[in-house]
Amino acid sequence: MEKKSKNIFARIPLTYQILIALGLGIAVGIMLQGNPDIADNYIKPFGTIFLNLIKMVVVPVVLFSIISGVISLKDIRKVGQIGGRTLLFYLCTTAIAVTLGLVMANVLQVGSGYTLDTSNLQAYEAQTIPSFIDTFVNIFPSNAIQPLADATMLQVIVIALFFGFGIIMAGEKGQPAADFINSMTEVCVKIMGMIIRLSPIGVFALMAPVVASNGPSVLLPLLKLVGIVYLTCIIHMIVCYSSSVKLFAKMSPIRFFKGMTSAMLFAFSSASSVGTLPLNLECTEKLGVEPDVASFVLPLGATINMDGTAIYQGVCAVFIAQLYGIDLTISAQLMIIMTATLASVGTAGVPGSGVIMLAMVLQSVGLPLEGIALVAGVDRILDMARTTTNITGDAACTIVVNASVKKSGKDFVSQVDIDEKL
Ligand code: ASP
Repeated sequence: MEKKSKNIFARIPLTYQILIALGLGIAVGIMLQGNPDIADNYIKPFGTIFLNLIKMVVVPVVLFSIISGVISLKDIRKVGQIGGRTLLFYLCTTAIAVTLGLVMANVLQVGSGYTLDTSNLQAYEAQTIPSFIDTFVNIFPSNAIQPLADATMLQVIVIALFFGFGIIMAGEKGQPAADFINSMTEVCVKIMGMIIRLSPIGVFALMAPVVASNGPSVLLPLLKLVGIVYLTCIIHMIVCYSSSVKLFAKMSPIRFFKGMTSAMLFAFSSASSVGTLPLNLECTEKLGVEPDVASFVLPLGATINMDGTAIYQGVCAVFIAQLYGIDLTISAQLMIIMTATLASVGTAGVPGSGVIMLAMVLQSVGLPLEGIALVAGVDRILDMARTTTNITGDAACTIVVNASVKKSGKDFVSQVDIDEKL
């Protein structure tokens, strides 16, 4: 009982800690406006450490979680067509989501009207965006180690896919490798958890110097960013999920959203797809989904299907590019669609993991990672909207797959143990 009272700050939920840190960062930034050097020399280094930690964890997270995602495809092969349909639905809706995010961000000019100083971004200026065909050729690495060291993320994904399928094909002999990968994925999730715990410090230390050197007007674009991410998530849910459940499962969208309300509210407040899984199972089963279908499609979705996260990545990429006055070419935007769709497979369904994947998407088109400093300040608010979209997408897919199972009259037996995923 004596331990409980020690650290009052630690007992405040992380969301509030981050919001408090954001407010403090802005307040300190405004106070130091006349002396930005103080913020740069004494506060910014902690923000840099936070960003470094994010960069450090990106490669192992993507590598291990994608390999382990592929290994779990073993079950999908067992269920043949149904698994294929699930994957197709997940990938298509995610690609639609990121495309919608890019369109909305471009049309509504998410980062316009404000330009940040790019003079300290030599790393970006040195890079030029290669053509689409070069990019395509370049995603197949000639060396399996270099991409990991350089954090060239598309190459890392290709390596992960090959190793994942290699492990499946090696059968019994591949089992120790599969166990190692699954265990490393868990370890990475824990490391990510530690870094996410540090986000209040990171947010404070990133925000204060930004406000100190640019003035509080730098915050205005953030309001626009939050508005556009929320609007796009709502449009995606209403248009994409309503039409899917109506078209493929003949279910009224109103019934769908009514039935999903409690899971959506939980996702909104917890910002965790994995944490929402039990409630999502309950809601979809109440909507008439067979338990064995739900217990296969939903845990898979909580791991690999992240439409809200994809929207966020599309909008943020354009936001950061416009803020730094960088022109995003069509091939760069196509690259973002591809990377964000794949990144969604590698995003763990826990609070804050989307920002780590944002680093990967930015890196893939050579945008300055420093842009994350701004976005990180409002990340929790964005996370609430994207997680709600993520789990609603999983549920819509479950309804659609369930209808197709019923239609084909197939007996669907899933081996997936939900408890393992929780
Ligand atoms: N928090 C999200 C989820 O659990 C992932 C993300 O950060 O984008 O679905």
